[in-house]
Amino acid sequence: MKVLKFGGTSMGNAGALRQIEAIFRTNIGLGGQPVLVCSAMGGVTDQLIEIGTLAERRRLARAMELYEQLKDRHLQTAEELHVRPAFEALTESLFSDLKNLIRGIGLILEFSERSRAYLTSFGERLSTRLLTAFLKKQGHPVQQFDATFIKTSGKNFLRDEVNYHETKKQVQAVLSTPLQQGISPVITGFFGTNADSVISLLGRGGSDYSGAVLAVSLGVKQLEIWTDVDGFLTADPRIVSEASIIGQIGFQEAAELCFYGAKVLHPKTIRPVIERGGEVRIRNTFKPKNKGTLITQHPSPSRVPVISISSKGVHMITLDLFAIRQNKREVMSALFGLSSNLEINIDMIAASEAQVSFCVESNQDHLDTFLQQLHEICPIDIKKDRSVVCIVSPGDVQGQIGVAGRIFTTIAESGVSVEMYSQNASEIAQLIVVPSAVAHKVIANIHKNLVQ
Ligand code: ADP
Ligand code: ASP
Ligand code: MG
Repeated sequence: MKVLKFGGTSMGNAGALRQIEAIFRTNIGLGGQPVLVCSAMGGVTDQLIEIGTLAERRRLARAMELYEQLKDRHLQTAEELHVRPAFEALTESLFSDLKNLIRGIGLILEFSERSRAYLTSFGERLSTRLLTAFLKKQGHPVQQFDATFIKTSGKNFLRDEVNYHETKKQVQAVLSTPLQQGISPVITGFFGTNADSVISLLGRGGSDYSGAVLAVSLGVKQLEIWTDVDGFLTADPRIVSEASIIGQIGFQEAAELCFYGAKVLHPKTIRPVIERGGEVRIRNTFKPKNKGTLITQHPSPSRVPVISISSKGVHMITLDLFAIRQNKREVMSALFGLSSNLEINIDMIAASEAQVSFCVESNQDHLDTFLQQLHEICPIDIKKDRSVVCIVSPGDVQGQIGVAGRIFTTIAESGVSVEMYSQNASEIAQLIVVPSAVAHKVIANIHKNLVQ
């Protein structure tokens, strides 16, 4: 058994859904029983957020226009696939619930995190019904499921944690009978429900994570992430057009890249699967013959100096220790205490006698409170519009002399000054902070000199 996760572009139109049907058929032909996890049709999640925001801001008429467009897109695709009546039967109450919800937001002029989670869940609930109607029409034994059995901890409605223990129990209770009957489940990605059975999201791009959670809960070792690129690439193809496919990559290396912005995989996806002895493969829905990239605990040895580069936007914060009476120990303790209490992730840190510098992702909840409370302890300098560039080498490169030297020479030749730097002892990831305005230039030049 395999878990196959299909992303937004892979679910995006009739042609893409036909590709999925072919991939499904190939898996059945090889004697497999796929479990499918799906994203919303490409762009729908963003559109739903826009609709909710418009309704909250008294622009209900425009919100309703976008709702009609979104509905038409689904119905039109169903029409093209010759499953419109079946899709309509599966979604009649969903569309009216969605419409009522938008009206409700427009009435009370409030779009809370809880209603945002509920509203955006419609994307996956619609797309999985569309795919199910189509696969059934093609004669496949499938059944649609809303992932209410992915149980979350209730920490947050937009980026919740998964309660694996409870999820495993519920997943097995719901899915074991259809699976034994040879029925493949088609499951919504992106959300689960908390202990009060209220819909809660796993974060943007979270359907990858749903795939991992389902693989782990069902004891399935193979998770395939089907997307719109050929695999894990040596850089973001939107930044480096010559980026090439990586055949195999170690899970630690891949995890670093995903944490520091490689959008191809949600950062929480890899670890749960690999820890239980599984593997993750990234494949292109539109080129299903290609093998893609294998993410594994034991990749074949590699001596390339750099495997891949990613980046993400941050604030760079510096604490001025000379300006205060407290010693460094006390300031560090206060920094970590505050970050833990307010759940602020510190992405990178460098300390000397006079200063402590660190980076935080710019779009975190409670960031303003964190900075304000920190300012009460110590003078701080905040530099916005910075990017952490994450340069990842294979684990085998540990001890190889000159890699960092070549990276710094390349950055200097790009006319850019490094504002902060860190490397961990495994030598896998080197993190460099530069102004966001020059990050693409730096990535392209490192790619040219150290990857190709
Ligand atoms: P999906 O909707 O299938 O989940 P995403 O848009 O979330 O797809 O992720 C795939 C996209 O990630 C690619 O189209 C590509 O633009 C981007 N990307 C960023 N970094 C990388 C990388 N290192 N390798 C492959 N794709 C990357
Ligand atoms: N549809 C959700 C999003 O756009 C989840 C996903 O695609 O992974 O964030
Ligand atoms: Mg994605």
